[in-house]
Amino acid sequence: MAAPLPRLVVATGNAGKLAELRALAAALATEIVPQSALGVAAVAETERSFAGNALLKARHAARATGLPALADDSGLEVDALDGAPGVYSARYAGDGARDADNNAKLLGALAGVAAPRRARYRAALVLVLGPDDPPLLAEGSWEGEIATAARGSGGFGYDPLFLPDGGQRTAAELAAAEKNRVSHRAQALAALLVAWRLRP
Ligand code: IMP
Repeated sequence: MAAPLPRLVVATGNAGKLAELRALAAALATEIVPQSALGVAAVAETERSFAGNALLKARHAARATGLPALADDSGLEVDALDGAPGVYSARYAGDGARDADNNAKLLGALAGVAAPRRARYRAALVLVLGPDDPPLLAEGSWEGEIATAARGSGGFGYDPLFLPDGGQRTAAELAAAEKNRVSHRAQALAALLVAWRLRP
């Protein structure tokens, strides 16, 4: 079994994501520090894939801190919108958009679209031990539908509108521990841990 890293920087400024990664990555590192706590500003997400942006963010955080770095790039893909908002999920309603703005824009874009409005969350996680070391990449997805109205106060982002397959509750109505057992991020982290333990 690989020994946990003493300290790991997480390349995110998103409080919801950070809380989930702290819980999910506890086996990977003893101490998990957000890059903002070390004075590292967010890098521009210029890639067009989740994996590309995760790699960019992880390398930036590792370079800026000298620490091993973990980055998550994730988003929501809606079939009726040809995969939008996708990698633009955080800024769907514009730069600096709040979750409520993004959710309102999504409901508007789907007005008149009949159920089931199929969708999925996707997450790409990248772990780098140093900025120029080979990255470990793992991905996960979580299938569901977009509800017609927001419900629930847990989670973050689009969770009040995301109805995971196999239940009646939105992701924002799940307990944090329930979401962390099945989410796109949980699946990606589980795969990353396997890759971490098997690495040469
Ligand atoms: P990123 O920082 O560019 O990866 O932004 C990811 C965005 O995707 C978030 O700001 C949310 O809008 C959305 N997102 C990703 N994962 C989740 C999730 O687990 N729940 C809700 N929204 C999510």
